[in-house]
Amino acid sequence: MEQINKDVWVFVEQRDGKPADVSFELLSKGRKLADNLKGSLKSVVIGSNVNALAEETFKYGAEEAIVVDDEALGHYRTMPYSRIINQLVENEKPRVMLYGATVIGRDLAPRVASYTKSGLTADCTELQVSDVKYLRKDFKDLLLQIRPAFGGNIIATIISPDVQTQMATVREGVMRLEPLEKPVKGKIRNVEYTPDPLDELVKLIEQHRKENKVNLKAAPIIVAGGYGLQTKENFVLIYELAELLGGEVAGTRAAVDAGFINHDRQVGQTGVTVRPKLYIACGISGAIQHRAGMQEANKIIAINSDADAPIFGVAHYGIVGDAIEIIPRFINVFKQRLR
Ligand SMILES: Cc1cc2nc3c(=O)[nH]c(=O)nc-3n(C[C@H](O)[C@H](O)[C@H](O)COP(=O)(O)OP(=O)(O)OC[C@H]3O[C@@H](n4cnc5c(N)ncnc54)[C@H](O)[C@@H]3O)c2cc1C
Repeated sequence: MEQINKDVWVFVEQRDGKPADVSFELLSKGRKLADNLKGSLKSVVIGSNVNALAEETFKYGAEEAIVVDDEALGHYRTMPYSRIINQLVENEKPRVMLYGATVIGRDLAPRVASYTKSGLTADCTELQVSDVKYLRKDFKDLLLQIRPAFGGNIIATIISPDVQTQMATVREGVMRLEPLEKPVKGKIRNVEYTPDPLDELVKLIEQHRKENKVNLKAAPIIVAGGYGLQTKENFVLIYELAELLGGEVAGTRAAVDAGFINHDRQVGQTGVTVRPKLYIACGISGAIQHRAGMQEANKIIAINSDADAPIFGVAHYGIVGDAIEIIPRFINVFKQRLR
């Protein structure tokens, strides 16, 4: 009987040699999936001088790093990268392959899925493996690709039963980063890069990048405002409270759409996923798409004038009342205490 490959692969994304956090988060998740599948976890590292990065993947449980290292691969370009992964996946047929739902991952994953006729689900919020009975047939080791669907009204479990390789993309911050206490003694397997004229279709002449100044993911305290704050001026209260507590300011999509706050501070399904020690939600209803980005905060305090607001379902402490009146009281108390 043909032996089915049970390996889990993670594409490790880098820019100028700096890895994307999401790649390590995916390795942490991939480690668990590989254990459940009884397969190996492998990282796929493409770039120029990326051996040190390949070794870093062992800290997150990769047993093998498949490395394609060449000067020509220093910067991501669709053609050589997708061509390389197409060949690797086609030849070795991993059971699962994960990519960050980043600009690069979103460019790469669909091309590989289409070339290798693999399944692919974008923006998964949870991944598991399980045997599944579907249409009266038994399928082994399916990847349960779990994500909100139909505008976030349901949480769907998507399966790709008829393919060998099941792929998923996951946004940064969704999976937990869990370095191993003792790194795995992994091995590096070098795969030679064979240039192809097609690779030169696009040449990188110059690149200009603007780093995002807001780092919500690293903030231990986040004070977030919603549409319930009513005006941009009222958001000053949120900034004042956040500054006092040494925290960051965030908001809902409704607050972003209303122009109260910039999009780089949006928390939720189409924003950033955060896990701070404390999340103070002011005038936020707690729609599922917002909760998806903050419900794993250690402690959540919610202020809302509607006692039935869904945010109270995930809050550890709830205050029913007018946020515009309550936040200044918070500020006063903290000013006294922190003096
Ligand atoms: C595909 C998709 C993706 C989405 N992605 C995101 C996302 O990433 N992030 C996100 O946040 N949303 C997202 N949304 C939108 C989401 O469904 C909600 O519309 C949004 O989160 C609501 O924002 P809100 O809570 O600020 O506003 P509202 O839902 O309008 O709630 C305002 C709340 O403020 C309360 N309130 C009113 N006045 C006061 C007051 N004076 N004091 C205290 N409380 C008051 C009200 O009782 C109410 O609960 C997405 C939607 C879709 C369809």
